Amino acid sequence: MVERYSETLSHEAQSNGQESGTAKIRSINPATGALLGEVSATQASEAEAIIARARSAQSGWAARSLKERLMVMRRLRGSLYHHYDELVDLMVKEQGKTTQDAMAELLPTLELVNFYLRNSQEILAPERVFALLVPHRRHVIERRPYGVVLVISPWNFPVLLPLTPVIAALVAGNTVVLKPSEYTVLTSGLIDKIIKEAGVPDDVFQLVYGYGDVGAALLDARPDKLCFTGSERVGRKVAARAGELLIPVTLELGGKDAAIVLEDANIKRAARGIVWGGTLNAGQACISIERVYVVRSVADDLLAEMKRVLDNQVRVGPGTDSRSTYGAITNRAQMNVIQSQLEDAAAHGAQLITGKPAPEGLFCTPTVVTGVDEQVTVASEETFGPVITVMSVENEQEAIERTNNSRYGLTTSIWTENRERGRRLARQVQSGVSGLNEHIWSQSTPEMPWGGVKASGYGRTRGREGLLDMTYAHATSYERFRLPFEPFWVPYLSYKRSLLKRFIHLWYGPTLRDKLKALKWRVE
Ligand code: NAD
Repeated sequence: MVERYSETLSHEAQSNGQESGTAKIRSINPATGALLGEVSATQASEAEAIIARARSAQSGWAARSLKERLMVMRRLRGSLYHHYDELVDLMVKEQGKTTQDAMAELLPTLELVNFYLRNSQEILAPERVFALLVPHRRHVIERRPYGVVLVISPWNFPVLLPLTPVIAALVAGNTVVLKPSEYTVLTSGLIDKIIKEAGVPDDVFQLVYGYGDVGAALLDARPDKLCFTGSERVGRKVAARAGELLIPVTLELGGKDAAIVLEDANIKRAARGIVWGGTLNAGQACISIERVYVVRSVADDLLAEMKRVLDNQVRVGPGTDSRSTYGAITNRAQMNVIQSQLEDAAAHGAQLITGKPAPEGLFCTPTVVTGVDEQVTVASEETFGPVITVMSVENEQEAIERTNNSRYGLTTSIWTENRERGRRLARQVQSGVSGLNEHIWSQSTPEMPWGGVKASGYGRTRGREGLLDMTYAHATSYERFRLPFEPFWVPYLSYKRSLLKRFIHLWYGPTLRDKLKALKWRVE
């Protein structure tokens, strides 16, 4: 018997330091350590029944017209709006972000609904294709939902990241099973309430609380599509298992995003944009700037300016304090990763430029690291903390080479006052997203596709591509009129071969002389 993937996971499932298999999942405020609440964990043994329920509800949901499904999405937008303050409050308490960042996270979620309300009819419309070799038939490409979409999401953006694929999947006519992070269960519970309030039927959207083993068991139960957002490590596992089951996958994984600062950059703007882009949400963003390649002639200026921004504009503290620009590290395991990378960097002779010290607890002081290169972990592996490694380069070419010489490829930014130069270099970076003089822009543009290359994942969420990603292209062909004979069918006769040959001469013959061969009495 084939070993079930979920049965091999007893250890891996505890990847985040919480215990799998326990009946309750506790939600802890990372800023205070206070218990916020707890929920009952789903057991891995329930996975098959959950996927089966989603499957039996799917045809009914897909049978509703797109207009009807969009009406539900309109109500979902209203429901999100009405629970706006509650959502912000929970995100701040449970994930540790600041109130302003929680608000900023909700904006693209709301605007994504607007985008699909405006554009889904056009994006999902059947497309007629003229096929020259069979002009007597009508050809149509239809976008069909996969069926049951399993969404597995992380903790760092607990509203935007799960809702983006959930909304696209529902609009396209799929049913959805969402397994959110075990660290943000209360926020996920509110999302469930909001979706149900909008009128999405129970089995069309199901929320499943659980640890990694439950995510694995849900995948074992063979949904029709997986959209996974999370670490590269777990991404490799789920992609391998999905490969065995031949389930299509969208993977949104980690990053080691680079910012390239050229000698003609506006250094003040670059320093502010980079410090913000590297410390936003305590650096717990896949899109966070973790590497900077600065041309040597302006490196000292940039570092001095970054230090000024750290001292004057960045402040770490509880997300509830309006003076904080970023809040807590969401869990102890993540804090350990950041601390060990900083200790390793120091042991390799790095200089650490710090901002205002963090308070006691799960808070991390913003840190700029210099004096190391990609041989050291802090400059090559994802940190997921408010830590930015700055490395000097001789010129733009070296900057591009070192940017691309990474396993990851999510976002790259180029800082220069010469737009033409910036666009030229943007075309050379190996990443899913790039920006000139701004790194985090894609967080506020749900109209644009989002996703990475290499170990940062594949497939796209958001925008047109994100909706198409929840569908497969179904090709179909109807009769316009019937020919007196079928040229490709049996019986195979000489006049059919002659006709085919004449057509090949006429249509593909490179010269007039070749084309005229079609008119010959006998075609050889
Ligand atoms: P993680 O990979 O540990 O967990 C993600 C989700 O997968 C969680 O819900 C977890 O319970 C589940 N899971 C764990 N093991 C599993 C298994 N074996 N099978 C199925 N599901 C399993 O990631 P995390 O720590 O929650 O999130 C941080 C990571 O996410 C970072 O690497 C970050 O870069 C990445 N991320 C990427 C994007 C993006 O859009 N590219 C966005 C946000 C976060």
